[in-house]
Amino acid sequence: MLKDRYLLFINGQHVESESGEYFDTYNPATGEVIAKVAKATRADVDKAVEAARNALENGKWARYPASRRAQILNRIAAIMRERFDELCKLEVLNSGKALSAAKGQVMQAIEDFELYAAAALAFEGRTKPVPKGFFHYTVKEPVGVCAQIVPWNYPLMMAAWKIAPALAAGCSIVLKPASLTPITALVLAEICHEAGVPEGVINVVTGSGADIGAYLVEHPGVDKVAFTGETTTGKDIMARASETLKRVTLELGGKSPNLVFEDADIDAAVDGSLFGIYYNTGQSCEARSRLFVHESIYDEFLHKFVEKAKKLKVGDPLDPSTHIGAVISAKQVDVIDSYVRLAEREGARVLYGGERLTVPGFEKGHWYAPTVIVDVTNDMRVAQEEIFGPVVVVMKFRDEKEAVRLANDTIYGLAAALWTKDFARAHRVAGQLKAGVVMINNPFSAFPGLPFGGYKQSGFGRELAIESLELYTETKSVLAYIGEKPLNPFGV
Ligand code: NDP
Repeated sequence: MLKDRYLLFINGQHVESESGEYFDTYNPATGEVIAKVAKATRADVDKAVEAARNALENGKWARYPASRRAQILNRIAAIMRERFDELCKLEVLNSGKALSAAKGQVMQAIEDFELYAAAALAFEGRTKPVPKGFFHYTVKEPVGVCAQIVPWNYPLMMAAWKIAPALAAGCSIVLKPASLTPITALVLAEICHEAGVPEGVINVVTGSGADIGAYLVEHPGVDKVAFTGETTTGKDIMARASETLKRVTLELGGKSPNLVFEDADIDAAVDGSLFGIYYNTGQSCEARSRLFVHESIYDEFLHKFVEKAKKLKVGDPLDPSTHIGAVISAKQVDVIDSYVRLAEREGARVLYGGERLTVPGFEKGHWYAPTVIVDVTNDMRVAQEEIFGPVVVVMKFRDEKEAVRLANDTIYGLAAALWTKDFARAHRVAGQLKAGVVMINNPFSAFPGLPFGGYKQSGFGRELAIESLELYTETKSVLAYIGEKPLNPFGV
């Protein structure tokens, strides 16, 4: 299942990089090298973009009837279902995430392809009533060659979020996975090819984002950049893409609020809030990492939250009963720990966790305890900056107005959750939260078909829904004169 070496995927072939060099990829739970991966050079990016452009220009994929593209997207999903266990295991081995989390993400990736198979059939142009003698229609055309750059926290799912709509729209793709987690994107490209996606339509280049990623973004052969990753990287990408006015969509970071009102079902709010922060080892863009609890239930809530946090099992990611897997890298453990220490220096207090863990049998892996930090104010750096680990900061609020003000007091606007039994309040508050995704009395933020994306510095553009097809197409407006007499606009 796991190969020793993974090559680039260009023009339907597995190929060595021009330099013949490789980089190591690791299992974060063991710290061991699990495979070598071809290190793409700029010349490889040129080849991949050329393959994608040829595939676009020869029009094979884009001119397939939507029904044929849909059939192939469904076939991709079918092969992924057949290889479900293998995909989950590869994802766990390369990312360290708990199998239970990987299963949900691989299933969602499969459903993405099914969603966009259906969307490809439903997506269409329109006609507008125009003055007599004229006829108007719009055509949706593929936006072109798409550079797609994805992060390490959901390697396969993020690749699927990007590849599926681009294929549905008839685009061709050069995808760059994160250097820490390149394996499942390469396997996915192979599956797409096996399902019938013509050569050159999907290409995957692996290597450094700062080098080949940036080069890809600037490449004149690329028409659109779709990026998921850190907000600072997103800003850099937007600036680079501006030189050739590429279309850009950005799914960036978050510091999402989780509001627990005094009338909430406290036990449900505790369980949902635990999942909201500790799922995927807290390495989620939509992690609800700022927990705001009404002052009247603060002590009770916090007591229950910590008691439940103690029950979470951190350890062997392949054990189905594990809740929290490994952190992606030793460097990320350092980042997490430095934020926890910073919180203490800022005057906050670690109520639970706040330390590196050693897991028996996985001593060389990267682990961090689920952590709860209290005595926090929203202006502290730990309340404003994305930590990207299993760390929640908890604050009190007095009333609804203050809850909304604190929730919105951040540069980010990806997701927000709220817990209340008051129906009117739930929707009143949802309407005031500056976030692209709002969860009421549940912790789930992403389902195929429901638009996902950010407000403010969490980016722009929506994924996971039919709206995404707009972002992978250009609209051509065609106005035809069909009158009997010739037109003579100047009347001369
Ligand atoms: P990074 O921004 O560091 O990297 C993301 C991808 O961009 C990687 O493939 C990386 O390559 C590449 N990259 C890095 N620098 C450049 C550059 N200058 N030009 C082009 N590409 C570049 O993010 P992380 O991988 O650290 O991912 C975590 C981030 O992703 C978090 O901030 C998280 O919130 C965000 N995220 C957002 C989501 C959303 O939907 N809003 C969903 C999931 C994550 P390499 O790996 O080689 O450095």
